[in-house]
Amino acid sequence: MSHLELAFVGSGNAFAPGGLCWNGFVLDGRFLFEAPPQALMSLNRMGIDPNALDAVVLSHHHGDHFLGLPFIMLHWKYFGRSRPAAIVGPPGTRELATAIGRSVYPGLFDLSYELRWFELEDGDVVELEGLHIRAHRVEHDTRLSLNLGFSCRLGDRFFSYTGDTGLCDAVLAMAGESELVVAECSSVDERVPIHLNLVDDIPRIREAMPPDSRLILTHVTPAVSVTHLANTLVARDLERYRV
Ligand SMILES: [Zn+2]
Repeated sequence: MSHLELAFVGSGNAFAPGGLCWNGFVLDGRFLFEAPPQALMSLNRMGIDPNALDAVVLSHHHGDHFLGLPFIMLHWKYFGRSRPAAIVGPPGTRELATAIGRSVYPGLFDLSYELRWFELEDGDVVELEGLHIRAHRVEHDTRLSLNLGFSCRLGDRFFSYTGDTGLCDAVLAMAGESELVVAECSSVDERVPIHLNLVDDIPRIREAMPPDSRLILTHVTPAVSVTHLANTLVARDLERYRV
């Protein structure tokens, strides 16, 4: 069985608590899930070539998940990208990314490579260079266009990513069929309806998962430092995990 490698460009929630980098991770060096503001800096520190990315996959449009995209594209533009790239996200991603990108770096969208956009609704499926992604509507900021979690298959491996969400049926269903779940865990015991916490919600997700599957917590605060749940760990900034 093949492995999945996850490299975390950051592990913190929106407030960058304790100086944590904002959450995001690279799957197998090719798929960047989330584009937090420091994503390009973290990729460079970790020795991951931004031009090797096949796609950026965005769960929703909050700034800690989205505002690093212009820097990624800046690298692509000026450091020789020629291969096609894909950007995946909720409806409105292209319009928002274009407006922001053109405002902060005029010329950013004068491209020397093909850029493909995939805006996904609940239940939509897309295949990107061998990565099959199914989008699921999750329960987060209803003022945004749509908030997504993703269930994915890469080769013979199945994993899912919650995005930002409160505990909901979509998350539990994804957990039940995954060998690996990357879940947000924004607090220890504070109950915020649009987020998951460590003491109430994460055990429910763990229970829904196959016992030998792995759970990685991210989008955390430093207080979410350890967990005694089986096969569960807390992601660290700039760390790699092989599952
Ligand atoms: Zn959010």
